[in-house]
Amino acid sequence: MDVTAILDKLNSAQEEAVTSDRRHLLVLAGAGSGKTRVLVHRIAWQIQVEDVPPHAILAVTFTNKSAREMRERIDQLLGMSLRGMWVGTFHGLAHRLLKAHWRDVGLVENFQILDSDDQLRLVKRVMRALELDEQRWPPRQAQWWINAQKDEGLRAAHIQDSGDGHIATMLRVYREYEASCDRLGVIDFAELLLRALELWRHHPEVLEHYQERFQHILVDEFQDTNAVQYAWLRLLAGTRLRVTAVGDDDQSIYGWRGAKVENILSYDRDFDETHTVRLEQNYRSTSNILQAANAVIEKNSDRLGKKLWTESGDGEMLALYAAFNEHDEARYIADRLQQWTDDGQRRDDAAILYRSNAQSRVLEAALLQAEIPYRIYGGQRFYERLEIKNALAYLRLMLNVDDDTAFERVVNIPARGIGERTQDTIRQAARASNTTLWASSVQLVAANRLPGRAKNALAGFIQLVGEMAQGSASLKLIEQAETAIERSGLIDLYRREKGERGLARVENLEELIAACRNFQADDSEQPILPQFLDQVALDAGDRQADEDQDAVQLMTLHSAKGLEFPLVFLAGMEENLFPHKMSLDEPGRLEEERRLAYVGITRAMQKLYLTFAESRSIYGTESFNSVSRFVRDIPSDVLEEVRLQNTIARPTSYSAGAISSDIGEDTGFALGQLVAHQVYGEGVILHFEGHGPRARVHVQFAEVGTKILILDSARLSVV
Ligand code: ATP
Ligand code: MG
Repeated sequence: MDVTAILDKLNSAQEEAVTSDRRHLLVLAGAGSGKTRVLVHRIAWQIQVEDVPPHAILAVTFTNKSAREMRERIDQLLGMSLRGMWVGTFHGLAHRLLKAHWRDVGLVENFQILDSDDQLRLVKRVMRALELDEQRWPPRQAQWWINAQKDEGLRAAHIQDSGDGHIATMLRVYREYEASCDRLGVIDFAELLLRALELWRHHPEVLEHYQERFQHILVDEFQDTNAVQYAWLRLLAGTRLRVTAVGDDDQSIYGWRGAKVENILSYDRDFDETHTVRLEQNYRSTSNILQAANAVIEKNSDRLGKKLWTESGDGEMLALYAAFNEHDEARYIADRLQQWTDDGQRRDDAAILYRSNAQSRVLEAALLQAEIPYRIYGGQRFYERLEIKNALAYLRLMLNVDDDTAFERVVNIPARGIGERTQDTIRQAARASNTTLWASSVQLVAANRLPGRAKNALAGFIQLVGEMAQGSASLKLIEQAETAIERSGLIDLYRREKGERGLARVENLEELIAACRNFQADDSEQPILPQFLDQVALDAGDRQADEDQDAVQLMTLHSAKGLEFPLVFLAGMEENLFPHKMSLDEPGRLEEERRLAYVGITRAMQKLYLTFAESRSIYGTESFNSVSRFVRDIPSDVLEEVRLQNTIARPTSYSAGAISSDIGEDTGFALGQLVAHQVYGEGVILHFEGHGPRARVHVQFAEVGTKILILDSARLSVV
């Protein structure tokens, strides 16, 4: 048997991992050391050498896109196309199981997936029904709380009401929310995982079936599994299956969403006969980039501790650009990208990474102006755009008029005179008679219980949706989509909307039709529309429009995990932005930000630019932040500061101490002093920064929270 293709281009540690015949395997290694490569080659090895049939392999990846790539790479290695292997994200795999076993876990057959927007809307609705004050109990927090419980595997019934007012209230919301989801036949992301776990727990015969079927489970990015995912894996593994996990504790960046890096630490204990392999050679980046990454991550405590090295040369210095403001930063990046393509390089090979989604807007504007095509990966996702969600809601109603979330979304879009008041009446009636919004609307109209105009409007909507739904089952998917977009009046609505925006919305709707045209169902026996809607909910945005075009990639640092690019920009390297200001007071979260910085730096293969803006308007306020501590941790012999006309070797504007809290000598103010600002009102001085005309002051205002102001122009007065 020729295994050259599988073992070629593996170093000895990688080969040891790929061919290991111990029951379980843990590959614990730093960024770019070939973990994902080992996983792919190990699957090929199992199939070709160990004769494992493809359908006995289950591989878990972090995104749907990486699942597709993994499949392609295995096909390439083996020189044939594999069928039957399960490769997907935890969510995708859970969905697949629940589709097959919906009855066992108490779901309806056509259950719909709620994305996080829809979930928030439902939580709001529940809270309104419970008459909770939104100011005091922000729905977003309740949503977060519910998801956090689910990520730990806890249902409302499992949680003790400790008598604490906060928990008692959240628990009431959770209970009601659970009941609503069941009634509506909808399921949120955390619920997908929890139900899949309950499927194993409560149905040993189903579990046994899959334990018979699968022989190998392989998990990439293992450091970001949460409690439910880990429990699911352990149950499935049982006493016979073999598990391969690859991960890097230094890249655990989803702690805020319930991921448990401890899972790596307890792996040896929970999966006996584990063989652990460490990889230390990095094949991705230049030595300068690695040095920077090592220096940044070294500052964290509690690491398993690995040091990466590379055989590749030093490469270019990392570049730091101190922009005047965020527009200057974006223009600088666009210029560099222009240079990159002028030099004959591909745009696909370049990525701009940022901490917060909101940063993309200005970057996008600069790229548009410079006519540089770009693609946003995993950010403002196509399927999350307003017009698309509206069209999908019509499609969902065509499938099931009782889909309350969809009903609420489009009952008055386009505006047809069904105002808030009428909608409230519908909601109340639905609650009172415990029916869906659709059913109660029909009753309200029939019983003539609405004022004339509202009644006519609602009757019109019912008739419209009824007609759209009727006979739609026999249409092709593309015809169903055309009905949803045209008959609903959506496309006319957006055609009337002026300017670029309306145009973009119309184009997006056209793109949706194109997506329907190209959609291929998994199961040709089943109706296609529900399959399409599920795929959309799962796949949202992994795939963007213009897939063939050579385009620069924009994405948040979180979505860059596992990827690599020859040219990388890390934009917005400023205190308060990155590390994010929410993390500054919590050591645990600050360490997670540092790991995120490590992930960002290690995406770069050849050249890394770090940029920051001395002043930045974001979320509608202007702030003046100093350069990020992560930049200051990078040794100066691998980093050079760029000035537009000339380049100087020694960094200047970010010398250590730039962020230190000065005492405010000569300013006429003191820390802790009560001051007043013309616009923001009264506040207390928290902090001074810098000297001279650019000296800044942080003030905690009573009304508007903390602001950072230029002392010279803030015109503060002593109270
Ligand atoms: P991350 O932690 O970022 O997910 P990783 O450990 O999964 O990284 P890979 O993406 O598998 O690393 O590999 C990084 C790069 O190094 C890839 O381009 C891969 O093809 C290359 N590579 C890995 N091992 C070797 C090798 N033995 N010889 C040559 N190239 C290699
Ligand atoms: Mg990887």
